Amino acid sequence: MSTAPMTREQAIDELVWANRILVNENVLDGFGHVSVRDPERADRFLIARSMAPALVTAADVLGCDLDGTVHDAQGRRTYMERFIHSEIYRARPDVLAVVHSHSPALIPFGVTGARLRPICHMSSFLGSLTPVFEIRLSGGESTDMLVRNAALGRALADTLGPHPVALMRGHGGVAVGVSLPQAVFRAVYTESNARLQAQAMALGAVEYLSAGESGAATETNNGQLDRPWQLWKQRLVEAGRAP
Ligand code: MN
Repeated sequence: MSTAPMTREQAIDELVWANRILVNENVLDGFGHVSVRDPERADRFLIARSMAPALVTAADVLGCDLDGTVHDAQGRRTYMERFIHSEIYRARPDVLAVVHSHSPALIPFGVTGARLRPICHMSSFLGSLTPVFEIRLSGGESTDMLVRNAALGRALADTLGPHPVALMRGHGGVAVGVSLPQAVFRAVYTESNARLQAQAMALGAVEYLSAGESGAATETNNGQLDRPWQLWKQRLVEAGRAP
């Protein structure tokens, strides 16, 4: 994968692919969103206007600041839950891409005492703790479950802490990364880990990756992120759904 600094135009192109990949790989559906930090100014991020991610084109991408204000909106609005992105970018200078999904296999792990843990090497990045965001702690008993303001976004970013993934009770989760391919990889493999872990738990006691195995496997996987990214792009081309 190229390590050359990206232009804004390149980031927008990659963001369009990321939107469509996440739908094609069953992480997003009509809902959920993905963003990338603006490579030309760290206090802004790029995200689609409020729309179904499968339909996003470069013309739909907006620039948003860390207060959640869209610039050069031209009448367009972005997602109500943009504060998920703005507050994570504010809290985590290392994060350059964020995925928020309602990916279905995550839900059981957000609403029970069962903790999501790495069941195989591809999801080793989960490590020993995936935190769960409890919106009631900051939003009270009667929210509509959406992270619709900066205070809720801050609370979610606090829960995420230094981790790559946080679950959101009764809602979904967030996955972050140092690039779109890494954040997308983490979103896809968090969903698959949750599905496999639930299957394994139904069979019996589960042997998870150790901390040492998780660390070593993650280092290996981080060198391979371009491979699935190229595959996921090719699947879109073959399906006739490439941008
Ligand atoms: Mn949501």
